Amino acid sequence: MRTQRQVVDYSLQKRALLRDVRNGKVGTLEVCDASPYLKNAARFHGEPTDERCPICRHDNLTLVHYIYGDELKQSAGQARKLAELPVLAMTLREFQVFVVEVCRSCAWNHLTEQFLLGRDALNADELDRVEAVASASSGRHREAGSSSQRREGRW
Ligand SMILES: [Zn+2]
Repeated sequence: MRTQRQVVDYSLQKRALLRDVRNGKVGTLEVCDASPYLKNAARFHGEPTDERCPICRHDNLTLVHYIYGDELKQSAGQARKLAELPVLAMTLREFQVFVVEVCRSCAWNHLTEQFLLGRDALNADELDRVEAVASASSGRHREAGSSSQRREGRW
């Protein structure tokens, strides 16, 4: 995504953890502990991948995108579909995205990366163009956030 910045990659931590699991230092039950909320988020908002689960090798991993930031107000902490993020990035100045990989078979889960999105990354020219696009598509923007959705988004 164009306004993506301050990316933090957690693949080293993930590799180290998987090594500990293979060595028997960490039990699979400790790493396969996705909460019901995370599993629901994977089911309803997840992004399928071609990557096999590193623990059970039974299912492909699903990526869940959680959004955080003051501007999100009651939507903060919710899981969103990947396709919704560019729209939010054009509407909000700045918000944080946490990407969590989940196996829907064995409940393996790990933070893969985090980054910032939002209009703050754009210069004045780009903002003008974005304003035009945003006002054209604002009719499609839906207000989300019942309390049940908020709970579902927790991880
Ligand atoms: Zn698995």
